Amino acid sequence: MPTLHREDHYIGRTGWLRAAVLGANDGIVSTASLVVGVASARAHHADILLAGIAGLVAGSMSMAAGEYVSVSSQADTERADIERERQHLAADDPGEREELAAIYRSRGLDPSLAREVATQLMAHDALGAHSRDELGISDTLSA
Ligand SMILES: [Zn+2]
Repeated sequence: MPTLHREDHYIGRTGWLRAAVLGANDGIVSTASLVVGVASARAHHADILLAGIAGLVAGSMSMAAGEYVSVSSQADTERADIERERQHLAADDPGEREELAAIYRSRGLDPSLAREVATQLMAHDALGAHSRDELGISDTLSA
């Protein structure tokens, strides 16, 4: 029995990686700027340390809340778009099939194959096909 070809990819992890890189960079730059600013005012060592720690804590909380709000707004937008697509599919199935076929034609399939692919994918999971190929929303990259 043949075994499935298996590959490991990391594209699904880009969300938290991007947030981690942005957060770390922001934490370093803002904390260093704060420490340099306080130090240049000839503060005592303890005050500089306090400013650095306070800046680090404030920056961490701000970045965490900011990332949560950012991801939540993306997830809300994706949910709303998927719901809009569900309504389009209920209202105009042939039009949506033609829309999907046009997407596949633009990707290089000939017209009859594009129509057949659209028909079979919509028979299998119409909303999934439109979410992925029309809206660009996939399990791998969604918020
Ligand atoms: Zn559609």
